[in-house]
Amino acid sequence: MPEVSIKEHTFWELEVCNACRYCEGYCAVFPALERRRRFSPADVVYLANLCHDCRACFYACMYAPPHEFGVNIPKALAEVREQTYAQYALPRVVSDLARRNAWLLVIATIVSLALFGLVAVLSPTGIFATHTGPGAFYAVIPYLVMLLPALLVSLYAIWVMLAGAFGFARDIGGQHLVAASWRQILAAAGEALGLRYLRGGTGGGCYYPSERTSNSRLLFHMLVFYGFLSAFAATIVAGVMQDIMDILPPYPLLSAPVVLGSLGGVGIIVGATGMLVLKWRSDRAPADGRSLNLDWLFLLSLDVVALTGMLLLALRETPAMGVLLVVHLATVLALYVSAPYGKFAHFLYRYAALVQNQMEAAAPARQSH
Ligand code: SF4
Repeated sequence: MPEVSIKEHTFWELEVCNACRYCEGYCAVFPALERRRRFSPADVVYLANLCHDCRACFYACMYAPPHEFGVNIPKALAEVREQTYAQYALPRVVSDLARRNAWLLVIATIVSLALFGLVAVLSPTGIFATHTGPGAFYAVIPYLVMLLPALLVSLYAIWVMLAGAFGFARDIGGQHLVAASWRQILAAAGEALGLRYLRGGTGGGCYYPSERTSNSRLLFHMLVFYGFLSAFAATIVAGVMQDIMDILPPYPLLSAPVVLGSLGGVGIIVGATGMLVLKWRSDRAPADGRSLNLDWLFLLSLDVVALTGMLLLALRETPAMGVLLVVHLATVLALYVSAPYGKFAHFLYRYAALVQNQMEAAAPARQSH
């Protein structure tokens, strides 16, 4: 297991929770906690990724700050969760760079801007010419220059994220990893796709951004998640239309790639902006600073990608198309480069934790330590 540094106080806080059991209806964390008598580092990493930071337990706990015990489960688990992304994603040199706040994203954006900007400026018509009709984008950036870096970087990101998630699943599940049934895998997928735990257990919503329950986080997260899936589907459909049906972009406003891409873009802009506002207004007491930074970066970069994509759609027949295309491609590439090391990767770790939770719930006696 990679080196995840866990404070002694975190182990102690979990043991206090296990003795109290007041919060057991809030989420999947407390039933999982109760299946254990002692906590190994792998257990804490697992519980951290099962936690979705609803903060119900913080506001319910009589030992939460300012009490001298200082039991702050959302903060303690967020600290561990943030390390999961850095420790499980290799290579270490990139992972370390990513942990230094925004540096990986900034460097990737600058390099991508320089690459695509240079190609666009050196194109036969320059970056500020107006292009319309089939193949208009490729007059500014040739197809292969657009495709190859995106393909290589996305394959790299997928490999790093999957390798990290499998390593994580092996560590938290131990010898029981192979025991997951299709039923458990699908049940966990249903929980993830429906964002079940963001609905709040007996709490009835997340205690976010403040001490009162609200479903706004669930709504904005849904918009980001399904907006991203819609934008991804738009890319696949566009690829099929271009490479199999020989129909070059830009596509009409009512075509499948543009409709899916627009729905996705608007969903991401509304969802990511809404989540940024919620974060801005959120109570900092149950928050971990480093995790919060990752959230800011991820939501901001998603917002920029979606905004530049929508602007590109709106202004694609004007002289601004070249510049917008360069900026959009550069921000997409930077997002892919930084994806395995930040908040983007959380869905894989969370999903692995949900599968583990399904297995444990089906056989609680086997999992007790
Ligand atoms: S913050 Fe919410 S999800 Fe996390 S342990 Fe507390 S109640 Fe469970």
